[in-house]
Amino acid sequence: MVTKTKGMGELFKEVINKDLCTLCGACIGDCPYTVFYRGKIRMLDLCTREEGHCYGYCPRTRTDLDAINNKLFGVPFTGAEIGTVKDVFMARSRDAKVRSGAQYGGTVTSLLLLALESDLINAAITTNTDEDKLPEASVARSAAGVMAGAGSNYMAYPVLEALNRMPKDSKEKLGIVVTPCQAIALAKMRLDPPTQRASLDNIRLSVGLFCTWALAYDRFYEFLKNNVDLPKVRKFDIPPPPANRFDVYIGKEVKSFPLDEVRKYRMPTCAYCLDMTAEFTDISVGSVEGIEGWNTVIVRTQHGADIIAEAKKKGKLEIKDLPAQSLAHLKEASLIKKARAVQEIVKKTGDKNDLMYIDISHDLKEKLLGHKVGAQGGH
Ligand SMILES: Cc1cc2nc3c(=O)[nH]c(=O)nc-3n(C[C@H](O)[C@H](O)[C@H](O)COP(=O)(O)OP(=O)(O)OC[C@H]3O[C@@H](n4cnc5c(N)ncnc54)[C@H](O)[C@@H]3O)c2cc1C
Repeated sequence: MVTKTKGMGELFKEVINKDLCTLCGACIGDCPYTVFYRGKIRMLDLCTREEGHCYGYCPRTRTDLDAINNKLFGVPFTGAEIGTVKDVFMARSRDAKVRSGAQYGGTVTSLLLLALESDLINAAITTNTDEDKLPEASVARSAAGVMAGAGSNYMAYPVLEALNRMPKDSKEKLGIVVTPCQAIALAKMRLDPPTQRASLDNIRLSVGLFCTWALAYDRFYEFLKNNVDLPKVRKFDIPPPPANRFDVYIGKEVKSFPLDEVRKYRMPTCAYCLDMTAEFTDISVGSVEGIEGWNTVIVRTQHGADIIAEAKKKGKLEIKDLPAQSLAHLKEASLIKKARAVQEIVKKTGDKNDLMYIDISHDLKEKLLGHKVGAQGGH
């Protein structure tokens, strides 16, 4: 079950003040004591409740992966490289306009547009990029709004704040796009639904983004500000390996930075994350190694499969088999992320039996501790 034995004081002591916060946003939005300000969750005043959802929902407090997996998919968490899978393939939008504004194939944007059009959802919670190229959450209620959210902003942003801000009596049917840590927080919320917030049943579609790591909002913004003319930037990209670069599209030019230079601005907490493919969502989407302009798509729930079937039927997505080599590389990268996380956690706690927030079986832990990870986390 969700940990519900501690409150906000402990959340700051054990997670936020230790630089373990992922900026998922599960603890803000409906709480008078905490806010997001300049890249961090800040305490305005100390809430004296001894137990709180803020602590229980945090993806860096004790997380029972078996309970989550059972709740979402009806099967236990096995530690399989890319999680619970119904289907995996590559896809891209059939709409050239969507593709041109999207990060890769525009699959995420196409799925949200289809969900809006077919009344599966009335609104989509996305992450837009403002004039300064900082991320900001948006509740998009039109196709134009969804299109405006296309593209990746690699800075972490507390997207779940926008969900928590929905009025308690809201009946709006929602789609939401989340990174893996945000998906874990959302899954923890589903295990033990909040009583003072809008119903989680309002979420009719969750789309997860693959993520190796995210960049620290404040520190990376300083880097960008000093190195590029921010208002002119139209896209950021971290192309799949072996590119090893961070690209900034400025008008027709592309300015590239070595990925090592950018990695310095990673969120420290990403080192302890097990999940590369957003395992706790309906559908997860990422890039395809070696193939530009397409997405890898992992379908996880029957609900996700139904939406993909609809997208095929209505000609929204072009779908192809994912090359076996791309799938093998994705699995290896995901396994390395899991292994590296467990090994880094043990380095931090100094105790093989203390995996901080992670609850996994003894056998899986030993397997991950024994797996070779190499020197550096790629992207
Ligand atoms: C921090 C981060 C790290 C990533 N790391 C990897 C990786 O290692 N490997 C990989 O294959 N793919 C990674 N991705 C995913 C990849 O960049 C694309 O988002 C994904 O392939 C979907 O492509 P698309 O063309 O369908 O997206 P689009 O149709 O352009 O839609 C992208 C969606 O992502 C949402 N979004 C943008 N920024 C954020 C954010 N900061 N937080 C939450 N949602 C956001 C937008 O609102 C939009 O709905 C990462 C994305 C992010 C945000």
